[in-house]
Amino acid sequence: MDEVVRFGTCTKDCYGSCVFNGIWNDNAIEHKLLYARPLKNHPFTKGFFCSKYNNRQELLYHPNRLKKPLARISLKPENNFKIISSQQAIEIIAQKVIEIKEKRQEKSIIGAFYAGNSGLISMHSPLRFFTKIGGTVTSAGLCNEGGCESLKKIFGTYSISNPLQIINPATSLIVIWGSNLSESNIHAYFLVKQAIKNKTKLIVIDSRNTRVAKKSNCFLQINPGTEHLMVTMLVKALDNQNACDIEFLKENIDSYSSIFSDIGDFDENKLLSQIGINFERFQEFVDLLVEHKHHTLFMIGYGVQKDFYGGRIVQSIALLQILLGNIGKQGTGLLYSQSDFIKPITLPILNYITSSTISSNLKEIPLINLGKALSTGDFKLLFVYNFNPVSSLPNQNLLREALLKKDLFVVVLDLFLNETTNYADIVIPAKFDLESSDIITPYYFPSISINLGGPCPYSDCMSNYEFFQQLAWKVGYKKSAIIKESEEDIFNKCLNMLPQKIYKDLISKGYHLLFDQTQIPFKNLKFPTLNHKIQVQHINLRFGEKELNQKLNRKKNEFILISPSHSYFLHSQLGQLNSKYYEDFGRIFLNPEDIKTLDVDIDEEVIVSNEYGYAKYILAELPSLKSGIALIYSGVSSPYNESTNVNLFTPDIPEESGLSGAYNSSVIKVKKVN
Ligand code: SF4
Repeated sequence: MDEVVRFGTCTKDCYGSCVFNGIWNDNAIEHKLLYARPLKNHPFTKGFFCSKYNNRQELLYHPNRLKKPLARISLKPENNFKIISSQQAIEIIAQKVIEIKEKRQEKSIIGAFYAGNSGLISMHSPLRFFTKIGGTVTSAGLCNEGGCESLKKIFGTYSISNPLQIINPATSLIVIWGSNLSESNIHAYFLVKQAIKNKTKLIVIDSRNTRVAKKSNCFLQINPGTEHLMVTMLVKALDNQNACDIEFLKENIDSYSSIFSDIGDFDENKLLSQIGINFERFQEFVDLLVEHKHHTLFMIGYGVQKDFYGGRIVQSIALLQILLGNIGKQGTGLLYSQSDFIKPITLPILNYITSSTISSNLKEIPLINLGKALSTGDFKLLFVYNFNPVSSLPNQNLLREALLKKDLFVVVLDLFLNETTNYADIVIPAKFDLESSDIITPYYFPSISINLGGPCPYSDCMSNYEFFQQLAWKVGYKKSAIIKESEEDIFNKCLNMLPQKIYKDLISKGYHLLFDQTQIPFKNLKFPTLNHKIQVQHINLRFGEKELNQKLNRKKNEFILISPSHSYFLHSQLGQLNSKYYEDFGRIFLNPEDIKTLDVDIDEEVIVSNEYGYAKYILAELPSLKSGIALIYSGVSSPYNESTNVNLFTPDIPEESGLSGAYNSSVIKVKKVN
């Protein structure tokens, strides 16, 4: 058997962005990818995949994978289709586009996408079509955008540190704030465990007693949305102990003293009770921060900013590192999203992929507001790719109703039937990430890597670009330069646009790293702000009192809702490989003490409701959860009750600074079913 080895990168919306060797048999009739072997020499992913996606070849050739285009044969919402040819599918959709163009309603054609495949070409090349047509696309996102925007206001960038600081011998304390590393960022968890072995201390702040929390020297189990209250107390405590690095502040921040004067007086006991911790635990935290000053690294998870004020919450956490002078030195820093480091390199590529020089004709709406936008009736043709909105977007009832509008034609490109295809008029079978060449820019580990596309055994499957190219040709744009190139040409041109060193690394080893272990970004403390100093005047620790009161002053059967990803799923993906966990999506998890206060037993059915929605769930216990919090996993619907989805209860009011999802801002009521 002739084996072909191709570099691959996992394009899932995940911290890992694992790089591997794909071993292919191009001559096989169907199972062409034999297996994937993660690269051992990669300093972050170190030769191991997560257990949820170890066997990608099983997903690639899964019996349920879509192989032919489908056309609806029943009313929505239902996955009931007949097979049609690719030619028929393209003709039907092109006809819709032409009708809309004739009415000069091009802006009513909308493309909605996210990071289901995070390859740059996969995500952004369809913009060539929408630009050409003069349509609308979604912008911003659902995840870390609030935190990114808010950090940019302080540092001029949201990427401050090198993740290899985790194992820098100068790091003697790591503070993990709101990140369930052991499940969602297993490679950083591996490094943290290595650091612990080397005597680095660990503080974990979370509302769940996670695996990494169990390894910590100090665990603060706090109420979600109270992070800034803790920072308020910490600023005062650090100031009282003269622990702030005044020299650092004087040199790098204008009018830093207002930070201390703005804190004012507060009732310490009230704040502690709102945060949900006792004074002794708080003092332990302060003592560790003081003891390890100039040797402390902060890691902030994305969950803390899934709040209406998420950006400000992230800013307040960053303030602690600034006050302690824990920036720009070996063994210090702030890890959040590191994708800003690569942007100066990839910006020309992105402009080329999207043909953005002529993009002025493109209208944008925030992704989070897709449901609201569709409800207006202004949109007639919706394309969905790299995205499962009928699982992932908040305020599902609004979105689902909007998708039922009679005059809205919906085209979905996907690998499998799912919640969103329930609303599709036409479904196009998508190619897998590994079946197209692409460029990947990880958001955690500062690097760039590639996928070298292998053959797809199903002739009707299309990549996003291939589909939109065929559609554009059918609509009459055959001669247009921006739709002319093949996908492989785009990929090769992108590679050639990169600096020589990066190009060589990508061709020879599949990835290029921006930093080695010793490199400290912003060592000179010159940030990309107007005066190159850190801008703390944007930080205000007084906000969200009304929303917080609503969260904290709940009735007996009300709970703060959190909706993390399930450890065996990536949002709504990977269910085909991990179907034994499907049942978890029909459950609502509470702390056993909270369950005792309800007149319901474990495994009984309960009604979950709030102002956004209503559904039945099975009650389950989760001792690691803080009292007062309810957990429903984000992702798929329960196979036993298809109407369940945690986003029935989440608000579509965006986070204020980055317009991302404020998913953890809901309170729900749990009642026994009568
Ligand atoms: S899902 Fe994440 S950890 Fe798992 S293989 Fe992909 S990138 Fe790696």
